[in-house]
Amino acid sequence: MAVREILLLGNPQLHLACEDVTAEELPGLRTVADDLYATLLDFRARHGVGRGIAAPQIGVLKRLVVLDLGIGRVNLVNPRIVDRSAETFAIWDDCMSFPDLLVYVLRHRRCSVVYTDLDAKEHTLNAEDDVAELVQHELDHLDGILAVSRAIDGQSFALRSQRTHLSGRSIRQGI
Ligand SMILES: [Zn+2]
Repeated sequence: MAVREILLLGNPQLHLACEDVTAEELPGLRTVADDLYATLLDFRARHGVGRGIAAPQIGVLKRLVVLDLGIGRVNLVNPRIVDRSAETFAIWDDCMSFPDLLVYVLRHRRCSVVYTDLDAKEHTLNAEDDVAELVQHELDHLDGILAVSRAIDGQSFALRSQRTHLSGRSIRQGI
């Protein structure tokens, strides 16, 4: 496993849509998934946050996401949201590609994601609240969409160092 460089906001590659992973590519993708996990753990060790990372963040334009929700590593190959709640909520989001920036976004409260693992076995993840937010954030990466593009309005950006000023908005309910 190797820690890879994370592409940062401003790099146009982050705005490119990723391709599906084919069955033939799966074996070779194991190394990419391992590197993503190593990169996630390294980021968390340095910043104290980080539960998900998408392949395009290390410059690999394939539909692959690695999560670590505290109950072990999950590899999501070709994940797609098959159901989402009408209910939404607003939350200050962050991203490994802009570690000092927070963005206030609207997310679905719950979502269901179908994906395969690295052995091509299909799974369903039913997520809610912060995990649903995380999943929507990571899947957006695969379509070249960053949280900054989801900002609710012009006051939806803050430096992480200013987060103590944000409590009033962190609990605002979505539309
Ligand atoms: Zn991100």
